[in-house]
Amino acid sequence: MTASTTGVVFDGQRLWRSLEATFEIGRSSDGGVSRLALSDAEKQMRDRFVGSCEESGLTVSVDTVGNIFARREGTEPQLAPVLVGSHLDSQVAAGPFDGPLGVFAGLEIARALDDAGIATRRPIEIVSWTNEEGPRFAPPMMGSGAFARVLDEATVLATRDPDGISVGEELDRIGYRGATPCGGRDVDSYFELHIEQSPSLDRSGCDVGIVSGGYPAQYLKVTITGETAHSGPTPMAERRNALVSGGRIAVAIDDVGRAHAPDGKTTSTGIDVWPNRPGIIPSLVELRADLRHPDAAELERMVCEAEAACARAAEHDGVSVRCERTHAFGGVSFDEGLIALLEEEAGRLGARSVRLLSQAGHDAYNLLAVCPAAMIFCPCIEGRSHNPREDVDPARLAASVGVMLNSVLRRAQA
Ligand SMILES: [Zn+2]
Repeated sequence: MTASTTGVVFDGQRLWRSLEATFEIGRSSDGGVSRLALSDAEKQMRDRFVGSCEESGLTVSVDTVGNIFARREGTEPQLAPVLVGSHLDSQVAAGPFDGPLGVFAGLEIARALDDAGIATRRPIEIVSWTNEEGPRFAPPMMGSGAFARVLDEATVLATRDPDGISVGEELDRIGYRGATPCGGRDVDSYFELHIEQSPSLDRSGCDVGIVSGGYPAQYLKVTITGETAHSGPTPMAERRNALVSGGRIAVAIDDVGRAHAPDGKTTSTGIDVWPNRPGIIPSLVELRADLRHPDAAELERMVCEAEAACARAAEHDGVSVRCERTHAFGGVSFDEGLIALLEEEAGRLGARSVRLLSQAGHDAYNLLAVCPAAMIFCPCIEGRSHNPREDVDPARLAASVGVMLNSVLRRAQA
């Protein structure tokens, strides 16, 4: 049992057991987990979470885009609830903590309040957002986006994966298209605990990261059109090879990130090639990339440099290149009142905390559109994430869970 300054204790071992019980779900041959949104593995995660919530006496509801809410009633049920949560879906070659940590830590908070016999004025709802990661259905942070009306619900439900299956069809198949309307209700505040995903917190020696905001990020889609021709007889000088141009642009985008390092980050994340067969010069390539920088003006410069590289490649390779700005997120600041509350509670717990920016996307960004929101990071070992070797030191987890528990309790009593 771990003590907290308000006299409420939470059970760190119980939280760890809840997480451990999910480690085998969606286990992949690389030793990590793959729980793509609305897949069978993610349904198992949902079922496990819902079952645990119901065992704990929470009232579970599911909204029309599959977001799950487990409600611990308040003494004044008409008050807007405090939301605590994260996501249960994962990337393709992922670790087991990115997302589930925040969801099951929320459940542990509810259990700890039960153990202490504490009734809060406001209801507390533990939430799991649909499709935070986005590798199957784009864009990421979809469920929270629909809830906060940042994304259009009908568009979300009609979004198809690369196999042509829609979000709505998959919600029906796994039994998680709920009846509760998505969003459109008052929320007091939102708290999210998450692993940090960069090495900075782990290396800082601090156990609690208070997230002040998030890097702005810009996704790009680059479409390159060349011309098919025989891979043998066609003279080198007359080729319009879209794949070669795609490679050139991928390298150039990487160079943009290196030129703006350490704060600037660029990643070519995927490429599709057509016809992608032996004996024929590829005529069509779609390259996807994301660019990030804590300073929005600097990010804009990076995007312009990437666009200029596309134009140079078009010229050099005799192909046509269209570079589109697709999804953008981040560039947000979390609520100063909640940040101050988290820092105060960290101080009361004697935990060393540090303010930092998130370099990843999170549902909490969307929640800012409807309520004050804040995030707490715990260190993950070496900052490895979206990687089968992602890991967390349970001994360094207690501080961040304690800070969240106390902050949620203060807010729910306010
Ligand atoms: Zn995550």
